[in-house]
Amino acid sequence: TLVLGIETSCDETSAAVVELGDAFALRSLVILSQDVHRLFGGVVPEIASRAHLTSVVPVTRRALADAGASLGTGDGRPIDAVAVTHAPGLVGALLVGMSYGKALAYAAGIPVLGVHHMEGHLFATALEHPDAVPPFTALLVSGGHTLLLDVEAWGSYRLLGATRDDAAGEAFDKVAKLMGLPYPGGRLIEQLARDGDPARHRFARPMVRANQTLGDADYFDVSFSGLKTALLHAVRRAESAGTLETERAHLARGFQDALVDTLVEKTDRAARAFGRERIVLGGGVACNRALAEAMQSRANPRGVRVYAPTPRLATDNAAMIAAAGAWRLARGERSDWSLNAYAAQPLPGLGTRNSGLG
Ligand code: ATP
Ligand code: MG
Ligand code: FE
Repeated sequence: TLVLGIETSCDETSAAVVELGDAFALRSLVILSQDVHRLFGGVVPEIASRAHLTSVVPVTRRALADAGASLGTGDGRPIDAVAVTHAPGLVGALLVGMSYGKALAYAAGIPVLGVHHMEGHLFATALEHPDAVPPFTALLVSGGHTLLLDVEAWGSYRLLGATRDDAAGEAFDKVAKLMGLPYPGGRLIEQLARDGDPARHRFARPMVRANQTLGDADYFDVSFSGLKTALLHAVRRAESAGTLETERAHLARGFQDALVDTLVEKTDRAARAFGRERIVLGGGVACNRALAEAMQSRANPRGVRVYAPTPRLATDNAAMIAAAGAWRLARGERSDWSLNAYAAQPLPGLGTRNSGLG
């Protein structure tokens, strides 16, 4: 089956064609990032919606052409279904891609499937690594979410931990901003941190106490707002000492090390608690090499494999939406024509928090 995916939940307009046979195969992927938001230091919802409106048609046509696929009666291999992100995200932005995807599917007489954006992030890695399939422990770290999940099977998720405040990507972006870097700053912090001395600023690892045990309320949760505040104070001290320029890389390193250590510790606990032999990273922060490498050095000695997607599949893209949609189609699902867009919605197939544990 050949599925067209459309993603417009935030500031990327993306379309892709994915084929599901024995495994997922990426046939095309087009991503258009809206640079205009840089001027405002964050995503402006109204601008994002209007930009999706002008881009979604040409981006989708390009993805279909690149895959040699078509809808309805055109030349090329016929598309079997359209998968669209319908939650969570900016409602105005979601509505553009969702309405367009619904209209395309309706006109072509094929099913439409509404896909949860975070379920998409969970499927992204499977597009490149045929072994990144359940059962596995998943760490989803993006601009708006930090989720630690046990994935028994596709569609069957157990939420183990989440952030109590800032998402991991949000923490990177806020720290970048207070160091005077442009939005989104995660990638820039990582670059700076490479030249930083890890011993110079050692920030406390949030929510990682010694002798914590399974069943403690914060055994799997994370929190990054305290770390962000600690960094703010360190930046102010450097500013008043006139040393910010020379301290920048060391501060970035100290921040990244604390955040990475925390995520690695929590993810490793989850993999051990469920005896999982695979760890899958997803979301934009999964682009971070320091995170992937630290996760590998922790897990590999136990024989646990760590899979991270390449950057274009880690950040927002329609291929992951097409993949999740193709899997849902294969198990017989389709959405109603009344499919709607929502700013927030729980992951489908989510068991209760910490169920079966402690
Ligand atoms: P959500 O998926 O929660 O709705 P989003 O879609 O905006 O949020 P993504 O596109 O998955 O988020 O990821 C974007 C985030 O990833 C930004 O916060 C960005 O700073 C961060 N990011 C990207 N590259 C890196 C990197 N190399 N190191 C750290 N963070 C990074
Ligand atoms: Mg984005
Ligand atoms: Fe995302």
